[in-house]
Amino acid sequence: MYNISIDEKELLQVLKDMISIESVNPSLCPGGAGEAKIAEYIGNYLKSIGLDVKYQEINKGRVNVIGILKGSGGGKSLMLNGHTDTVSIEGMDIEPLNPVYKDGKVYGRGSIDMKGGLASMIGAAKALINGNIKLKGDVYFTFVADEEYESIGTEEIVKEYKADGAVVCEPTDLKVCVAHKGFAWIKIEIFGKAAHGSIPQYGVDAILKAGKILSEIDKLSESLLNSKKHKLLGTPSVHCSIIKGGTELSTYPYYCTIEIERRTIPGESYETVNEEIKNILDKIASGDTDFKCKYEIFFHRPPLEVSLEEPVVKVLMEVAGDIYKKEPGIMGMSGWLDSSILDKASIPAVIFGPSGEGLHAATEYVDFASVVDTSKVLANTIIKFCGSV
Ligand SMILES: [Zn+2]
Repeated sequence: MYNISIDEKELLQVLKDMISIESVNPSLCPGGAGEAKIAEYIGNYLKSIGLDVKYQEINKGRVNVIGILKGSGGGKSLMLNGHTDTVSIEGMDIEPLNPVYKDGKVYGRGSIDMKGGLASMIGAAKALINGNIKLKGDVYFTFVADEEYESIGTEEIVKEYKADGAVVCEPTDLKVCVAHKGFAWIKIEIFGKAAHGSIPQYGVDAILKAGKILSEIDKLSESLLNSKKHKLLGTPSVHCSIIKGGTELSTYPYYCTIEIERRTIPGESYETVNEEIKNILDKIASGDTDFKCKYEIFFHRPPLEVSLEEPVVKVLMEVAGDIYKKEPGIMGMSGWLDSSILDKASIPAVIFGPSGEGLHAATEYVDFASVVDTSKVLANTIIKFCGSV
């Protein structure tokens, strides 16, 4: 173990090739190319090195590609996961699709989020093939669509593929990420009564009623920021993102909507958020007979926390520790990731990937040495987790 060698020259080429293939998420940015082309590139490459390759076309142009390394049996199976879509290429300070390798960094849209991670997965597959490693358990290299929008890619993967553990190769600066926040999007409709501004006895002002909710949300925000704290993720939070209402100055507004985002930490769920909002609205209604509203949690993604005792976490920690001769750092991430979909599908997931900067920003790069390191850790994690013959 640990004498796996990574073909760095080829890895750099694969990374540059992938950056140069536009894969902007079309749901996020209309006109974006989607993932079909990059899936084809990855599929062809994996096939050429000997993997069994499958495609899943979820919608037109929205494609997952899966490279399978079948084991001989008797070992645990591992899934590696990375998203092939990127955010917009507009308004960047660098050439988004013309990757430049300079001072150890590879620049381009998607370099750190997350074609660097994809390259690490591919590099690990290649290293196992080159090293003629025969595994007991199966390995699924899954390259998925749409993480930047609704995660239809990973949702599709878990319908068809199962594994005993997963590593999501989003950038973690070579630390082991075992937790991230979840979120809930809530829409509240407030119903008033339209009337001429001069006859208040006929009108109910929906905007003023919405103000009562805002004032309660403010109190909730205060209490969330001051009461609970997760050791890796900090506090949960709530903010009011969008408010709409009113027609003209001389009319009592009959309708107003508020959209709220609630970011959750482990221990909080759809149910706890629902309870929280319901309590706020019930409390207002009990003191105001004119207060009428309807609410809906229209989108929800749970937070993630995976135990340090989970085999995939333990193996990854051991391998990274042995390779770098020191314990890798443990971290949490504030944003939401596909790992929570895997976890919900009973595939314990941990996040580990390269270093870089500029996710969704005007200048984006990945540190190439960290891509190579991620490849090494992944290849050895596969061997240790799945077992070799
Ligand atoms: Zn990402």
